[in-house]
Amino acid sequence: MHKKVNTKITKLIEYYKLINHEIFYNDKAINRYSINDDQSNNVQKKLKELEDRLLSIKDCALKRNSKNLVLSDGNPKSKIMIIGEGPGANEDLMGLPFVGKAGKLLDKMLNAINLSRFNVYITNVVNYRPPENRKPTEEEIERYLPFLIRHIDIIKPKIIIILGSTALNAIIGDKDTISKARGKWYRKKIGNLMVNIIASFHPAFLMRQPDQKKMAWIDLKMVREKIKQLKIKIDK
Ligand code: URA
Repeated sequence: MHKKVNTKITKLIEYYKLINHEIFYNDKAINRYSINDDQSNNVQKKLKELEDRLLSIKDCALKRNSKNLVLSDGNPKSKIMIIGEGPGANEDLMGLPFVGKAGKLLDKMLNAINLSRFNVYITNVVNYRPPENRKPTEEEIERYLPFLIRHIDIIKPKIIIILGSTALNAIIGDKDTISKARGKWYRKKIGNLMVNIIASFHPAFLMRQPDQKKMAWIDLKMVREKIKQLKIKIDK
């Protein structure tokens, strides 16, 4: 009898280990999809170091006026990285990017090409909320850029999707408007990494200008094609 119960318990423990049960009740973005192999542990470790560095930033008005650091959400194993502008009020509250209305639209856009937060990785140019949802200043962007470059270097994406002009200017250094820069692929070396980059409209802009969604749809289809072309494995 005892033997039967013990076997059952052992099996249950193995099952919980297998399904990585911590993801169900740990809402810290970078741990949500914690994975077991060495390489993933290494990524987690580097992300934690990056998080600690961002938490120890001094003399930053953004940080001073924010409730939480907003590092990232999604799957650190993903080869698709999405970069927005900066956290808004909801993101600041939750400590996660794109959880407000713009985030809901982003989720829908991703779903339209069979992607989700389970298989992409999401971050922003600045990791603390700019007050009153203003755009981050040039100075603030410059201050956070080394962290973003390090973030990209840790995740090593094959595709970066830039959302909006702030991320466009920060990453491509392009002073073009997003409507001119969108819909084409850039290849750019970031740190030691050669990345395919595409810019598209920010979901918050699309909520104000819904007629532009058809252009965003073209960009999304380009992403879908590139995923196929590069044979990027998408976690389901
Ligand atoms: N807008 C952004 O650019 N990033 C967020 O995280 C939320 C809204």
